[in-house]
Amino acid sequence: MEKENKYRTVIGLETHVELSTATKMFCGCRLSFGDEKNINTCPVCLGHPGSLPVTNKKAVEYALKIALALNCRINKYTIFHRKNYFYPDMPKNYQISQYDIPLGVEGYLDVDMETYVRRVGITRVHMEEDTGKLLHTGTTGRISESSSSIVDFNRAGTPLIEIVSEPDITSPEEAREYLIKLRNLILFLDVSDCSMEEGSLRCDANVSVTGKKGNKIGTKTEIKNLNSFKFLQKGLEYEVKRQIKVLESNERVVQQTRHYDSKTGTTKALRSKEEAHDYRYFPEPDLVPICLEDGVIEEVRKTIPELPSRKAERFKAEYGLSGDDCMFIANDRDMADYFEECCKCYQNPAKIANWLMGDYSALLNKEKITIKKSRITPASLCDMLRIMDEGKISSRIAKSVFEEMFNTGKDPASIIENRGLEQISDGAVLEPIIDEVIGENPEPVEEFRSGKEKALGFLIGKVMAKTGGKANPQLANEIIRKKIS
Ligand code: ADP
Ligand code: ZN
Ligand code: MG
Repeated sequence: MEKENKYRTVIGLETHVELSTATKMFCGCRLSFGDEKNINTCPVCLGHPGSLPVTNKKAVEYALKIALALNCRINKYTIFHRKNYFYPDMPKNYQISQYDIPLGVEGYLDVDMETYVRRVGITRVHMEEDTGKLLHTGTTGRISESSSSIVDFNRAGTPLIEIVSEPDITSPEEAREYLIKLRNLILFLDVSDCSMEEGSLRCDANVSVTGKKGNKIGTKTEIKNLNSFKFLQKGLEYEVKRQIKVLESNERVVQQTRHYDSKTGTTKALRSKEEAHDYRYFPEPDLVPICLEDGVIEEVRKTIPELPSRKAERFKAEYGLSGDDCMFIANDRDMADYFEECCKCYQNPAKIANWLMGDYSALLNKEKITIKKSRITPASLCDMLRIMDEGKISSRIAKSVFEEMFNTGKDPASIIENRGLEQISDGAVLEPIIDEVIGENPEPVEEFRSGKEKALGFLIGKVMAKTGGKANPQLANEIIRKKIS
């Protein structure tokens, strides 16, 4: 810790997002994940000589949406470049990308940390195309342990957006929060499914450490294969420690690309970093420049929905929720919509929020589904809350009713009726049961009489047990008190 305090950590992230357009970036092939290999291909995305690319208008719109949501300045005149290199997953031997005139520049993303907000500059948002996918034979899927590889070109030409951050991130936790926030934002825009597991959201992390004295920036390394939020943070934590160790032993950090191994939690050198001039960038001669008119930009801006931070602020003002509750609900677009649907038919937003964040989220997480796939409609959640308010069921019974609603989609009233769960609020029904409990538990009764309030709780517990949790606890409390005081 001592040692680490002497150093400042500097991190910049490069994030790739596959867009969820119907077709590819420069041809009409369908986008697909998990289809039979090499069926969504054509001369353009297979790089046949003489084939000509055409830019996908929808992809430009989606990219524009992302750039605008990240507060970028938009380059109204923008062109594509060829980035030349050889790799077997790329049949053209160049990737169509953007170079000196990216679609969006100079944006930012505000990242909420527990006690402060970190504004992370967005250097650029540019458009490019994805490569094909190499599948290495053998059980581990790793290139070093396989004897041959297959290439699947279904992914080749998928519209890809690269979002490059300024080196404004100061810790691995901030990096993680940045990526979570960025993913959420893009999910709100409805332009990508942002699945880190399936690779539609990928992130490379650049990191350097430097002595706190002086403002020189250190030599960075770039970490690849960080395919979850946790790995991003862990990989960076490891790399920061490693670089500090290098500096402490008076050596130099070598600028290189490193591979994160999630099994060992370590990074190891892959290759020394290539420089931009190695790629021989030049303007793509087969594509016309893109000229965006103000009207088009405004049209796209209008399709951007209310974003999480704004939504959270509105929830605070409109429904009086606390800050944390607002963020929790507003961060999930479907949950936010669901919440507002509920608020239309039930007048206690705080109670709705409580259920959404508590029992509801727990079940959703357990089933690994989003609220959009839930069988409980907003109306039927509201019904349940009303039934509780009327005192027909206790909060304990409500939990079990809720679980059945979740599993079956049935409405609460019929579940309560079928299972005979209605709360017993009739003194005449409770009295004989209470008499039994008093008879069976003479010691706690004596304890209560000699001033131990706690003993009452024990007796109420017995009544609840005998009624399968259905006794109205307040009423049981009153009757017992009357009988034994
Ligand atoms: P390269 O030419 O190696 O691709 P760039 O200047 O394009 O480098 O930056 C790539 C990413 O690395 C950006 O996200 C940037 O913020 C980040 N970065 C640049 N310099 C540093 C540094 N010294 N330490 C950490 N991150 C850095
Ligand atoms: Zn194609
Ligand atoms: Mg770069």
